[in-house]
Amino acid sequence: MDYFSVKMRSSLEENHISGHERIVKVSELENTINELFKRGSRKSFDFLNIKIEKINSPILFIKKTLKIKTLNFNNPKEANNFALNLLQKETGINLNTLQKLIKLIHTGAASGKNMRGAMIVNLKGERLEKNREKGIRTTMVDYINREKHKKKLIKKGFTERTLDALALSTKNLIYPDIVAEYCISDEPDYLTGYVATKKYYFRLTPLKEKGNLFGGRIYFVKNNTDIDKLYNYLQNTPVLIEDIEIG
Ligand code: AMP
Repeated sequence: MDYFSVKMRSSLEENHISGHERIVKVSELENTINELFKRGSRKSFDFLNIKIEKINSPILFIKKTLKIKTLNFNNPKEANNFALNLLQKETGINLNTLQKLIKLIHTGAASGKNMRGAMIVNLKGERLEKNREKGIRTTMVDYINREKHKKKLIKKGFTERTLDALALSTKNLIYPDIVAEYCISDEPDYLTGYVATKKYYFRLTPLKEKGNLFGGRIYFVKNNTDIDKLYNYLQNTPVLIEDIEIG
């Protein structure tokens, strides 16, 4: 069966506005292109690009996503304390170092701006990404029967944002060298963030302060991780997920 990667990005005066990507069968191409066009043109733009490429490398099929667990807290401090303790347990990095890294994400990890992708941190707390402004972007991941899963999630009170973040995070955590992930959105009104471990996707609300324009992701990796191989997997290996696991 042939699959295609469809990538859309739009911008206004060279500032990024919207971006999204899908992996679909030929029969789904036309609908996908329309859908991505709608998504990219919700806000004004002066450039919109949709790129369609046949996938030639072997696709990694994954049976299930990480298991979703939702936890509510009284405020971001409480939620971040939970995140810190969980990350400390999963990575062995001391709380002080973890606190500094997480603070960076909340205050602009690319010299006071948002990184475009994620920070990579090893279990000694050292940053490893090749470019600290750009970070690493996980791409080439989608669901088989995306619409079905989207409906299922929305019916249970989740958002499409969860669908996308869950796919991204599942691709990340299936990689043997990635042990955990921390994420907050850069949308000032979207306060739910998550910590992902090898088994669970913990949605934590609220993980950031309302109105904060900063967001970002940290991928925690083993100390002996081969960075070139990691980049290649995250950017180039196509991953298709068959089902969602709601805990
Ligand atoms: P979002 O979840 O789209 O609100 O993104 C939150 C932050 O995560 C962004 O500011 C980026 O730093 C980072 N990010 C967004 N997309 C990706 C991606 N595909 N891979 C890695 N990091 C990303």
